[in-house]
Amino acid sequence: MTAPVRIDAPARPDELSVWPASTVRRPNGDLSVGGVALTTVAAHFDTPVYVLDENEVRTRCRTYRAAFPDADVLYAAKAFLSRAMARWVDEEGLGLDVCSAGELSLALAAGFPPERIVLHGNAKAPADIETALAAGVGRIVVDSPSEIARIAALVGPDGRQKVMVRVVPGISAGGHEKIRTGTDDQKFGLSLTDGSAQHAVARVLGQPQLHLTGLHCHIGSRITEVKPYLAALRRMVGLMARIRDTHGVVLTELDLGGGHGVAYRPGEPALDLTALARRVRTELAASCTAARLPVPRLTVEPGRAIVAPAGVALYRVLTVKHSATSLFVAVDGGMSDNPRPALYGARYAPRLVGRASTAEPVTATVVGRHCEAGDVLAPDVALPGDVRPGDLLAVPVAGAYQASMASAYNLVGRPPVVAVDGGRARLLVRRETQEDLQRRDVGPR
Ligand code: PLP
Repeated sequence: MTAPVRIDAPARPDELSVWPASTVRRPNGDLSVGGVALTTVAAHFDTPVYVLDENEVRTRCRTYRAAFPDADVLYAAKAFLSRAMARWVDEEGLGLDVCSAGELSLALAAGFPPERIVLHGNAKAPADIETALAAGVGRIVVDSPSEIARIAALVGPDGRQKVMVRVVPGISAGGHEKIRTGTDDQKFGLSLTDGSAQHAVARVLGQPQLHLTGLHCHIGSRITEVKPYLAALRRMVGLMARIRDTHGVVLTELDLGGGHGVAYRPGEPALDLTALARRVRTELAASCTAARLPVPRLTVEPGRAIVAPAGVALYRVLTVKHSATSLFVAVDGGMSDNPRPALYGARYAPRLVGRASTAEPVTATVVGRHCEAGDVLAPDVALPGDVRPGDLLAVPVAGAYQASMASAYNLVGRPPVVAVDGGRARLLVRRETQEDLQRRDVGPR
């Protein structure tokens, strides 16, 4: 038995509070995760490398299942997907949210049951819809008016596909303007405020090939308060009541999306999952009673909160440069393996591993190796004053939206993903080689 992990663990001042629960200090400044020393991972798999603690992922899945025993919990594959990840999530009893034929095909290749998969996407390509229908996914979430007829046509005269409508409830929440999706000034979903959602519902109900099971919303990401979810829930139940009144249809499902925030640095807040589950359940019951609706089956779609804290990114320091105002510590990765700091100003707490240093801490800026001044991984962080080329830097909370958002910028090649568990390290995704990169380039002929 392994110790349970609370995703809503109260922030501890402990500098390892955001690391996987299995993290242990070892001699000479090393750390082990999942029983494997990070220096060993670097020596075997080279750097940069993403390390993923399998038990941390599984425990987080179980924590969700325990907190939401009557709900469907879908893991949002966009946070990170590999065959092994799909397998773990399946074995832990979660469903999967995918948003492309690519994510869907990988999940299917890993044997994920299609009926527990939900397809999202604000602009679904024909291949996305065709792959989903051919596989028999559980739900397709309608995100725009034009895809209603497209999905219905592809279903064909004899078929019937379960769908939900993604509603923009007019609730602003989330850790950064670029990840707020609950209001009308962004590209996702159909507005409750201007009536687009109601129109879409009417059109879906008019398509015999489509079976509308419920409504969906996803109000943003990195949300650390329960209140915005409750506000969204009330509006969604209000819309369900209006749909019943207008169309005589009682919807049986409500999907409140994901967006559950985690701490990236010690002391940062995280969403209190237990409070979320309790208050959502109470509010749903109360709102439905007031609207004289049966309580719909609830779905939640966490991505980051399942996998972010299970990951650690390991880099090797290549250069250390003093400027008039800053100390730049440049590592062998950067925005190609983690675009989040450049995209959203995301902040991290890197630390030296594999060498004990007694040097006084200094304020440094950890930068990447890419030809972009904005290639900054972690500005203004404390590192030992003797940090030097050859050192290993480890960045915790690296499991979500890093490997999945990695690019081929500067043709550096994407890092491998290595699973650690029970003292064993194993390769899940191999490093992208120069050969991989060059094979795609088929000209000149
Ligand atoms: N569900 C939907 C529809 C999303 O768009 C996202 C993220 O963009 C998620 C779930 C997962 O969000 P998070 O990883 O913040 O939990």
